[in-house]
Amino acid sequence: MTGPSLPRLAPGSTIGMLGAGQLGRMTALAAARLGYKTHVFAPDAAGSPAAQVSASATVADWNDLGALERFARSVDVVTLEWENVPVATVEHLRRFTGVHPGPNLLSVAQDRIAEKSFVNGLGIATAPWRPANDAGEVARAAAEIGPRCVLKSTRLGYDGKGQARLDEGSDPAAAWSAIGGGKPGVAGIVEGFVTFACEVSVIVARGADGAMVAYPAVENRHKDGILDVTIAPAQVSAATAAEADRIARRIAEALDLVGVLAVEMFVTPDGAVLVNEMAPRPHNSGHWTMDACATCQFEQLVRAVCGLPLGSVERLADAEMTNLIGDDVDRWPDLLAEPGVRLHLYGKAEARPGRKMGHVNRLLPRR
Ligand code: AMP
Repeated sequence: MTGPSLPRLAPGSTIGMLGAGQLGRMTALAAARLGYKTHVFAPDAAGSPAAQVSASATVADWNDLGALERFARSVDVVTLEWENVPVATVEHLRRFTGVHPGPNLLSVAQDRIAEKSFVNGLGIATAPWRPANDAGEVARAAAEIGPRCVLKSTRLGYDGKGQARLDEGSDPAAAWSAIGGGKPGVAGIVEGFVTFACEVSVIVARGADGAMVAYPAVENRHKDGILDVTIAPAQVSAATAAEADRIARRIAEALDLVGVLAVEMFVTPDGAVLVNEMAPRPHNSGHWTMDACATCQFEQLVRAVCGLPLGSVERLADAEMTNLIGDDVDRWPDLLAEPGVRLHLYGKAEARPGRKMGHVNRLLPRR
């Protein structure tokens, strides 16, 4: 689907940003480089990574309609760095200004069942899955798919949170309660466990006019459910890389994306590519583009939502991105001293375990 171009917003315009974490921060920095201002809106915006580098910040609840209207009227366009912003919030903002990506796309991306149904509807494979809303349904789903499977909450899971692994002999009731089953609003999905050769992701940027660019597939290695290292480009066959690229572009197009979308995929030992999940925003696995590509993922988001031409995704170097999680950040003096290392810190005051504090990019000669 190809839509009309967005009105071109000139430098000097203000981008509204829903969410105030590191992704918002790095988008605001890219926006500033092009002469745009950023206004952050989030309940936790005060002193946040994004607010530290933005022209203004609104601290208010997602359902504060008055604050949302004032925010929308003070900006020229709205985008987001967190896909779980309530859809009703985005619907309200849209009465006053453009919001990209929009509510339809968000409602798909906020729910693992909606996401997998959408992807399967395009003829794209995922792990086998079943909805499960009590311990009995978990047991039945595991019997059909399993026995090795993963129970996940359908909404609000990230970095491996809200997940429980099941295997022969596991207690479905324990898994169900481990993901918060029984609490109001918690629904579950059981997915077959994929014995993958590697995990890859592709980041696509798309404009309202249908123009689209995609970065090469990268390989992602996780530790304790959290992204640890991204290797760019992924060391997979040309056919696998092309298939991952095709899948990500197909999804972006079918969702009528305006902005940036990351699609995470499993590559099986026989070369099949299965979609795991997607995020309609800049993604941790795209941080390498900040130092290794002609245009980084954050600038692509700015370009897409401001109606500018998308930038070149040319890869100037290969790269390895390593996250600095929790106390890892204390290594900053050594990292600064290491030649060729690009250090990015997010301005977070407290280094809690599992918290993403920054990342480093190491550039490598192009293979
Ligand atoms: P997710 O939150 O769905 O991205 O899951 C976090 C990580 O858990 C993934 O990046 C995988 O390493 C692992 N994982 C999630 N789902 C599965 C699955 N169905 N099979 C195997 N590993 C999985």
